[in-house]
Amino acid sequence: MLSKILNKSTCAQCRLCCIFDRYDVWETPRFSPVTDLCCRRFSPEMPELNNHGTFYSVKIDSLENELFYCPFLDREKGCKLGDEKPFECGIWPFRVLKFRNAFVIAVSPLCKAVFDMPLSELTEFVRNELLKPITEYVRLCPEIVKEYDMSYVILSVIDFEY
Ligand code: SF4
Repeated sequence: MLSKILNKSTCAQCRLCCIFDRYDVWETPRFSPVTDLCCRRFSPEMPELNNHGTFYSVKIDSLENELFYCPFLDREKGCKLGDEKPFECGIWPFRVLKFRNAFVIAVSPLCKAVFDMPLSELTEFVRNELLKPITEYVRLCPEIVKEYDMSYVILSVIDFEY
C-alpha cells in the first residue's frame, strides 16, 4: 500500500517496525478476522496470540535483551505472513489512532525514509492513497484501533464517529 513512497528493499534492510522495546511495545500488531486474511491461519489457542473476541493481539511474555521480536518475524526473511500481514503493519509508519472522539491518521517519526519527506507530499499521499482504505478498515473494526500516542504526528482526521 505504501509502494509509491517506500520501496521494499528499504523496509527489508530495516525491520524496525517488527521489533519493539518497552516504550513502543504498545505498537505490537493486532489482527482483525474481518479485514486481515492471515486470521484464517489462526486458532484461538495459538500461544503467540491473545484472543479479544473481535480481534487478536500478540502475547508479550518478556522482552529479550530489552527487545521484543514479533513472533511472526523471521529474522532472516522478514514477515512470515508475507502479503497477508495485518492491515496496521501494511500501512506503518502511518497509523490510524483514536484521538479524543475521533479517528486520526498519523505518522511515526521513527521511519526516517517516510518522515523526512516534505509534509505536503505526506498529506497528499494520505489523502489520495490511505484515507479511503483506512476509513473502510475503521468502519469494519473500530474496536481494534489503538489510542493516540504523542510520539505520532497527526496528518488527517477521519470523518467517522464512534
Ligand atoms: S506481523 Fe509481520 S509485519 Fe507485522 S510486526 Fe509482525 S513480523 Fe512485522
